Amino acid sequence: MTLEDDLRTVVGDQHVLVDPGLTASYETDWTRRFSGRARCVVRPGSTGEVAGVLRACGVAGVAVVPQGGNTGLVGGGVPVDGEVVLSTLRLVEIGEVDVVAGQVTVGAGTTVSSLQKRVRPLGLDFGVDFAARDSATIGGLVATNAGGENVLRYGGTRQQVIGVEAVLADGSVVSRLEALPKDNTGYDLTGLMSGSEGTLAVLTAVRVRLWPAYTKRSVALLALDSTSAALAVLAALRSRLTTLESAEFFLADGLALVCEHTGLPAPIPGEHPAYLLVECAATQDPNEELLEALGEVSELVDGIADIVVGEDGPSRERLWRYREAHTESISAAGVPVKLDVAIPHAHLEAALAALPEVVRGVDPGARTIIFGHLNEGNLHVNVLPGGAGVVKTDEPHEGYAVTDAVLRYVVGVGGSISAEHGIGRAKSEWLTLARSAAEVAAMRAIKDAFDPHGLLNPGVVLPVADGPGGGPSPSIDG
Ligand SMILES: Cc1cc2nc3c(=O)[nH]c(=O)nc-3n(C[C@H](O)[C@H](O)[C@H](O)COP(=O)(O)OP(=O)(O)OC[C@H]3O[C@@H](n4cnc5c(N)ncnc54)[C@H](O)[C@@H]3O)c2cc1C
Repeated sequence: MTLEDDLRTVVGDQHVLVDPGLTASYETDWTRRFSGRARCVVRPGSTGEVAGVLRACGVAGVAVVPQGGNTGLVGGGVPVDGEVVLSTLRLVEIGEVDVVAGQVTVGAGTTVSSLQKRVRPLGLDFGVDFAARDSATIGGLVATNAGGENVLRYGGTRQQVIGVEAVLADGSVVSRLEALPKDNTGYDLTGLMSGSEGTLAVLTAVRVRLWPAYTKRSVALLALDSTSAALAVLAALRSRLTTLESAEFFLADGLALVCEHTGLPAPIPGEHPAYLLVECAATQDPNEELLEALGEVSELVDGIADIVVGEDGPSRERLWRYREAHTESISAAGVPVKLDVAIPHAHLEAALAALPEVVRGVDPGARTIIFGHLNEGNLHVNVLPGGAGVVKTDEPHEGYAVTDAVLRYVVGVGGSISAEHGIGRAKSEWLTLARSAAEVAAMRAIKDAFDPHGLLNPGVVLPVADGPGGGPSPSIDG
């Protein structure tokens, strides 16, 4: 019996995919930078089947790559060479919503938008949201500890998770779905799963916290003379508006790319160095409150060039499109090196000026497009490489020099090399830049305890050998 035969016994013939035409979409990531061959793709339909798949792969000694919606941006959910891809897309059961507790248990393969559709009619909402909502799964969100557009109000994914059900590498199941608000019984395994990126267990179900659904919304887009002005506006709005939910920013070159790709007109006449998009949400229309606060802030803060407000649904959506279309517009222009970092607010203005220079130092022809979540100092640094021959030819793999230069700059100003996308394969070589030897040793000990034979996502988060240059070279198509 081959491994494929064993897997067919566990999940049924139609859920073991070996035909390259059927496996292709599971083998390349959303950015098209990371891809590899899978031995096969297996799609279990229950927790028991996930356990059976892991046991069979363990016996065969074949590594497993868990995959949800395949929208991850750090190459952690696609195979490198011959792993089994375990897709969670059939684990989509949504349990009964507990409207009193504000909780629901969902299958790990449930997308964010499916969860939103289920709970919003009940007056509840999920606290994490971002542009990939139609494909990104709750299991993927927990595995990456995703952030998104509403962290300012609700925190990241870890703050939304009450309990998880997960299958460990040996096929055993840990389940904390009936977690109580107070429960200090031993180590917090649920917390450990948040951000584990498929390296410790396969998440099969998640009990999530729900918030009151705020259906009345108001959005404003501000054009500003500088990022410092944007930060001053944010601080002033935060202290005035309890309904503030999002504070997103982008720059003139990113906006120009979005307008070119989407065909949208410029939202505000002229070109401005920085743009800040803010959204308020409440049970009563927050529009007046937002306008009043913007009026006060305009008196207080220098550098506000113009403001447009979206009061109704279509105008709010149009303003959001300028921010949310950044990722797809950049991808339409080429295959970018995507670096998600966090910078202390005190260094933000300087970092935005320095980063394109840092990139040009290693790739003179590169275009650097930066946008992100202002409240958390979270910059999405997207580098579209220059023409052939300008990228260092001696680098270990394409994108290495740019990644190295940007991440070293970020660490140098006290920032984080991964704000919300995770480490994946893309940054595992740089883990030791940001974490001490003792911290990495502790992470390795945890990995070894959960997965002693290295079955789950080898090379993700922890490189095969620690340190820049010491890890495996990700397979990068480009
Ligand atoms: C347009 C766009 C916008 C985005 N915006 C944001 C944003 O604002 N904030 C943000 O944080 N991210 C953002 N992302 C990144 C991405 O959507 C998130 O990382 C998301 O959490 C990934 O979910 P997924 O289901 O697609 O996971 P995948 O891409 O399938 O997997 C991601 C990682 O999680 C692991 N994994 C997936 N499911 C499981 C499971 N059930 N058990 C164990 N491990 C698992 C995989 O092995 C991999 O390491 C964006 C992506 C796109 C394409």
